[in-house]
Amino acid sequence: MEAFRFIVDHNVGKMAKWLRMMGYDTLFFSGGDDSSMVATALAQGRIILTRDGGIVKRRLVTRGRLEAILIEGDRIEAQMKQVIESLGLDIRFKPFSICLECNQPLEERSRQQVQDRVPPYVFKTQQQYMECPACGRIYWRGTHWQAMNRKLEQLVGEPQQEVD
Ligand SMILES: [Zn+2]
Repeated sequence: MEAFRFIVDHNVGKMAKWLRMMGYDTLFFSGGDDSSMVATALAQGRIILTRDGGIVKRRLVTRGRLEAILIEGDRIEAQMKQVIESLGLDIRFKPFSICLECNQPLEERSRQQVQDRVPPYVFKTQQQYMECPACGRIYWRGTHWQAMNRKLEQLVGEPQQEVD
């Protein structure tokens, strides 16, 4: 499975969180000079996701030096479905590996290490934890994570799997 990397334009910004959820390295471009987004994509080998038709018409893209996908739908579900299907992305590429907020690789933590930093009910029920070294956010496979996963499964039409 290819390790696609992305840069997500501000006009489809919600996609960043979902791609990171699947484990794909995804930068968010907050707007401004499109040329800097194009330069970053080119330098780092990232695919641009955008609703800006001008970007996909740039010569770098039409000549195949840079890949950019023009996202068609308004809703996040349609947007994710489009990119998953057009690139053949794996919704379980590397789950639980990238911070949804800042795109940093997560690091494993023991229960003891996070004991004072997660709600008691979480500590009681969850065994596995990851921490973002950049923002300090702690992740576990709780209900929010499961809900996002189910939504991805629905998008690709996979039968629901048991989540422990
Ligand atoms: Zn983070």
